[in-house]
This record gives sequence, structure tokens and C-alpha cells, in this order.
Amino acid sequence: MADDLPAPDLRIEGGTILTLDAASEPIETGFVDILGGRITAAGPVSDRPATSARRVIDASGSVVLPGLVDAHTHLFQVAARGLGDGLGLAEWLRTHMIPLALALRRTEMVALTELAALHALRSGTVAAVNHHYGGFREPEDAVAVAGAMERVGLAGAVARMMVGERTAAADAFGLPAANFGYTNAQEIEFTAEAMRAKADGPVAVWPGPANVAYCSEEILLAGADLARQYGVRWHTHAAEDAFAVEVTRRHQDGRRTLAVLEDLGVLDSDATLAHAVWLDDAEIELAATRLPHLVHNPLSNAYLGSGTMRLTELRSRGVRLAAGSDGCAVAGQDMFTVARFGALLQRVAATDASVISVGDMIQLIAGGGARALGTGTGTIAPGERADLIVVNTSSLHHEPVNDPLATAGWFATGLDVSTVVVGGTPVLDEGSITTVDEAEVRARGLAAARAVMARL
Ligand SMILES: [Zn+2]
Repeated sequence: MADDLPAPDLRIEGGTILTLDAASEPIETGFVDILGGRITAAGPVSDRPATSARRVIDASGSVVLPGLVDAHTHLFQVAARGLGDGLGLAEWLRTHMIPLALALRRTEMVALTELAALHALRSGTVAAVNHHYGGFREPEDAVAVAGAMERVGLAGAVARMMVGERTAAADAFGLPAANFGYTNAQEIEFTAEAMRAKADGPVAVWPGPANVAYCSEEILLAGADLARQYGVRWHTHAAEDAFAVEVTRRHQDGRRTLAVLEDLGVLDSDATLAHAVWLDDAEIELAATRLPHLVHNPLSNAYLGSGTMRLTELRSRGVRLAAGSDGCAVAGQDMFTVARFGALLQRVAATDASVISVGDMIQLIAGGGARALGTGTGTIAPGERADLIVVNTSSLHHEPVNDPLATAGWFATGLDVSTVVVGGTPVLDEGSITTVDEAEVRARGLAAARAVMARL
């Protein structure tokens, strides 16, 4: 190797590198070089360039993975951890989430977003799609929430929830009138305003129509249109449970969820659709043809009794898949747990252990998530964005490490993550958060949760 290569900003070395490239084997005692926010080299330490790095992180006893992406979450819901256990989706929303969202003040949603973003980062999540609906949903709210993610160091997007005028389908959901404070025109203008304000920031604002089941066609069309206009993706809830599909069929001339989007001309790779649990064969065919990004939320779907996504069929058809936690209030936001539980759920559904490995799920979370965000392929390779994590696998609950990827998938948790690099910057640096005062963020977040709960 030439000695005149520019010095990397950061070198992570000594651990087992899991590049998550399609065919690659784990690189034992490897290194990753990072310069200007990008990965410049990776391989065995024996091939390391002679140039010394400005900073070296020793990853001995650990695995180094592409960063995990939580492609569907609602960060403010951290305030409602543990509430509504045993309720189904519609009742859980009506009883807990919508009253909480409507009661939030901007300072509180910012404090809660920082708290949940901190937890996400500490658990190995480098980026999230934060589908946000707290407070009055003024443009400034989405901008403030994006700013909160940026301060803590979590990348990704705020999908500003768009509701618009109350529809007959929204009545069927039993959503309160207070949820529909704006005309469609206001909703669209507010979204555009927030998108313009964050056009250059590390955390963008996306259009986030609330739900295919009860948003008007005007709102769905406008969401997709704004995304095209600003060169970003758009996000919505789609076919989450049987009730949502039934409401769609009743109010959309018997059509199902993806058929509605197809007929509107918005089912394409700009669409990131959370859940897609209740798809029939024709919708799977549509997904395989139009290639939207479908975001699987296995923990949430199980917690709320919503159903099991036809994930293995979708994978075999080449459908684009990512995964999400769906927020802290539905069993947590540790994406290692999502990986493990997602694999188990598919095996139970198929009564066949061969349908998916936990490594496949980790790949779907990192790679599928990066693709859904449009930030790369979620692998460790030269030229890729430097989003990666170091996971300690030298504890009692890991050893012996026979298969590093299987060990990370089945036995690691967010608590084992020691370093998180986002866009080349160590945000969690060998155990310490570098961006914010962690004790202050926790104190402010807990105070905000207590304050809003006291008003409910
Ligand atoms: Zn959701």
C-alpha cells in the first residue's frame, strides 16, 4: 500500500468486521478507515495502509457492523412506555397515543425526542424515520423535532404527519375531532414550509400522511408530490391490521391498500410504507413490480396483535424491505431485539426454521434501512457513508463466539454497543455520548414525560 494516502480521520481496528456485503465472510482482526464522513478502506489488519490515522478505536473483542436503521418510529412515544399493555391498535391509539400527542407542548416534544434519540443511538441505531404527530403540528414543530435529533446525533428524517380534513374513514377509526385541526391546503402548506426549512440539514423533513386507511386522496397525492418536488421520500402507515384494511375496502370501493396507492400513481420507490402486514397476493405482486420500501415492525405488530407480515414471500419476490421499532411504547426501540424477534416470528409463521436467519434480519435492518433513507447500501465498503457500530461480544452472554453474525443477532443487545459512528463522527465514543450532556437530556426528557402525563 502507498504511504502517501491521506491520513484517515478515524480508524477502527482489531475487531471482527461484518461488512454485510452479499457474499462476504467475516473479516477477523480487521480495520475500517474513515475520512470525510465516508469509509475509505476496510479489510484484514495485515492489509492496513501504512498511513497512521488521526484517531484509532480499538475494537478487539467486538464486532463492527454497519449502523442499524429504525425505518419507522415515533420518538415522542417514549413518554408512554409501558402504557396500554394488552390493547389492540385502534383502542391503544384512542386511549393513549392520540391524547398524548395532542397534549404535547413543543418544549416537551423536543425533550422527549432527545431522550428517545439518545436511547436509539446507545442501542446502535444510526438513523431513524421519525413519523411525528405531537403537538399542534405547526411547521415549527417538525423543524424543532428534526433539530432535536440532530443535536443528539441521530441521522434520518422527520416524516411530518399529514392528516388534513376529517374523512368518513377517520370516523370509522373513532379518531377525535381535535386530531383534524387543519384544512387540506393548510396541511400541505405547513409540510412544504417545514421541508423548506430543513432542506439542507442532516435530518430532513419528509411528508408523512398519517395512514392510507383514513387520509384523503388529496393528502396522499400531495405527500407523494412534495417528496418528488424536494427529492426526498415520503412515509405513511399502510395495511397495519385487518381493521385498517376493512376500513379501506369499505371507503375505497372494495379496493385494498396498495391498489389505492397504485391507482393514485404514487406506489413507487419514493414511498416508504410502514407495516404492510395485510397484503393479499395481488398486492405482493404490485409491491414486487413497483418496488416501494416496505418497513416491517415485528415487535409492534405482535405487541398490538396486528398480525404477521408475509416477509419471506416478499423477500423471495425481491421486494424492498426495511424494519422499524414503531416507537418505544410498543416493546422498545432496540433494533437487535427487532432482528431477533422478526426472525423468530417468521419461523413460527412458516413452521420452518430455514425461512430466514437472524443475519438476514440484521442485513434487512442496516441495508434495507439505508436504502429506504436513500443514504447508501448499509454495508462496510469503500465509498459508503461511514455509519457503523462497534458491538462488544466478549461478555458472559456472548461467549464462545462461534459465528460472529449469529452471535450479534441472537445474543447482543443495545447495551453491548460501545461505539456508534454517524456520518464519520463517533457520537457514542467507547461508551460516552459526545454530542450532548446525557444526564441533562435524561432529566429534561423525564420531566417532560411527567409534565404531560400530569395534564392527561
Ligand atoms: Zn407507527
